[in-house]
Amino acid sequence: MNYDIVIRGGLVIDGSGRPGEIADVAVRDGQIAALGRSVPTGSARTIDAAGLVVAPGFIDIKTHSDFTLPINPKAESKVRQGVTTEIVGHCGFSVAPILPGKRQLVQDYLSASAPWLPFRETTFREYLDSFPPTSVNAGMLVGHHTLRLNVMGMDARSPSATELEEMTALLEEGLAAGALGLSSGLFTPPSSYADRAEMIALCNVLKRRNGGYFTHLRDESNNVIEAVEEAIDIARTCGVHVEIVHLKCSGLDNWGKAAQILAMIEAARQEGLAVDCDAYPYAAGSNPLKNLLPQWVQSGGLEAMLTRLALPESRERIRAEIDRDGLNNWGRIPSWDCVQISISPHLPQYAGETFGKLAAVRGQDPIDVVCDYLVEDKGATRVLITSIAEEDICEIVRSPSALVGSDGNCVAAYGVTSQGMPHPRFYGTFPRILGHYVHEQHLLPLEQAVHKMTGATAAALRLRDRGLIREGCRADIAIFDPSDFKDRATYAAPHQYPTGNRTMVMVNGVVVVEDAKHTGATPGVVLRRAGDGSVVWSALWSPWPDLVRPPTSSLPAAPSDMKARTAGTGPAEGINPTAARSRPWHLRRGRRAWPRRPRGPRRC
Ligand SMILES: [Zn+2]
Repeated sequence: MNYDIVIRGGLVIDGSGRPGEIADVAVRDGQIAALGRSVPTGSARTIDAAGLVVAPGFIDIKTHSDFTLPINPKAESKVRQGVTTEIVGHCGFSVAPILPGKRQLVQDYLSASAPWLPFRETTFREYLDSFPPTSVNAGMLVGHHTLRLNVMGMDARSPSATELEEMTALLEEGLAAGALGLSSGLFTPPSSYADRAEMIALCNVLKRRNGGYFTHLRDESNNVIEAVEEAIDIARTCGVHVEIVHLKCSGLDNWGKAAQILAMIEAARQEGLAVDCDAYPYAAGSNPLKNLLPQWVQSGGLEAMLTRLALPESRERIRAEIDRDGLNNWGRIPSWDCVQISISPHLPQYAGETFGKLAAVRGQDPIDVVCDYLVEDKGATRVLITSIAEEDICEIVRSPSALVGSDGNCVAAYGVTSQGMPHPRFYGTFPRILGHYVHEQHLLPLEQAVHKMTGATAAALRLRDRGLIREGCRADIAIFDPSDFKDRATYAAPHQYPTGNRTMVMVNGVVVVEDAKHTGATPGVVLRRAGDGSVVWSALWSPWPDLVRPPTSSLPAAPSDMKARTAGTGPAEGINPTAARSRPWHLRRGRRAWPRRPRGPRRC
């Protein structure tokens, strides 16, 4: 048997959650072709993985790399973390669709998030079809902010029946093109103007089209419990999969609530609802500065906001509301020293400064400094907000329920995306969990951490052929030294790749990172959700409208399990609800994605 590559003698942690075992992994034509002891090499290239972990490539379920992939197609800061797939278009922010005449509006709105990206009018299908070759696979979401901007601008009201129909049609078009689902950012305008009826109407489209709902909660601070209830209500009412993204309990008054929220999610699963969550392991969040202010500040759009911010009466109202409630979505923070300028397109010299320091230097009230700064930077300032308790981070990291999402963009330590002081999560999320929380703190077993980054994520997203080291799966593989795979990016010096001289990353069977260096290869593909709700390799994708799911008997046969090819440690575990009794404990407790659809064993 001829293979392209044989990875020899590594500790294979297959992504299912079970412990690793020493095995060879053979790759051919972009797929994992064989797995076991002493796979014959033949003419294949051999990679010596002795002493290294061989895992499925990490699936970053929560990113904003649609803002940077077209200008950083090598996805440097992600692939060097072992990430092979990114899900983009989150928090309601997507760069498509853009209707004729709406380009400037969307571009202005996203200026603090995508300052370097060229925008264009496009349908969602054109957007997917013309996405450039990149080093990672990318799955795209339709953003709710973007839908509203196209149809209603920044109007602070409910949609008319016609407007709701227009948004529904745009969402339908995106899903038909292969979008994985809808994202919302209910914490900030214009998504925040949406009531329950609007979100249910849109999520009913998802239900019909087998898409998923990915939500930045309506509030991650003082009303975080109510916001989680709202997300669970959507899952219950519409029967869709709900992903609560970058779960956090922000603000001094909300520290310690993570356990309660995780219990709520677990209870929803026990009820039979499809609810997942993900998080990044850092005490600071990152957002456009304007989103920290009361929501009425943005009403009417960018120019209206800038005019409003210059008015003394607006500043008085902002000051009073922040004194009373804390920051929008972020809650009460100890001081403005906790808000650090990250990327500031028009005032780049201030990147890294805090508003506490600027206020002290200027001898002004921090609210005046923030308002002046936003006006001078044309609303495009992005900040880091330190507002999360380490205890809550640990609670979420060790939870078997919580997946891993960086909430970061792929950037690079050179070129246009090396500007400013981005959040270190852009460079360090995955090695931070594996290096700091697993290797140093022993907060959770390595195989469980890998599962939360791979097999469990693939199950939540219904990626049928990724997330496991399993014969027939796409060859997205991360190879790393578990004792030398640690994040180096910090708030003060974020543009640093992780440690690990032997790190190797493969995407669709092509080596992208070798000995911690990028090869320049861009073998990533756009992932599209098929009519049956699953997401498979593009070449296998059935175009819309293929709503009729094939009968179980017509699906390809399941690969034989790993036990048959290696010295046995029990059957290889897919994400198979019917195999509950033999699954690892953390799978038994809650990893049931899309539970209402009966289905057979997971196949590649
Ligand atoms: Zn968000």
